[in-house]
Amino acid sequence: MYKCAVCREPVRSNINTVGIQCEHCGSKIFYKERPNVKKVLKVR
Ligand SMILES: [Zn+2]
Repeated sequence: MYKCAVCREPVRSNINTVGIQCEHCGSKIFYKERPNVKKVLKVR
């Protein structure tokens, strides 16, 4: 599960797809949702 870094909306799309954007705000920066570790993922 990933969350948009801008609007914090969960991303349901396949994160492995090239060119993915947040369907809410168009952001391309996502957080990888994990219980304790938060990692920033930048999608080109
Ligand atoms: Zn967003």
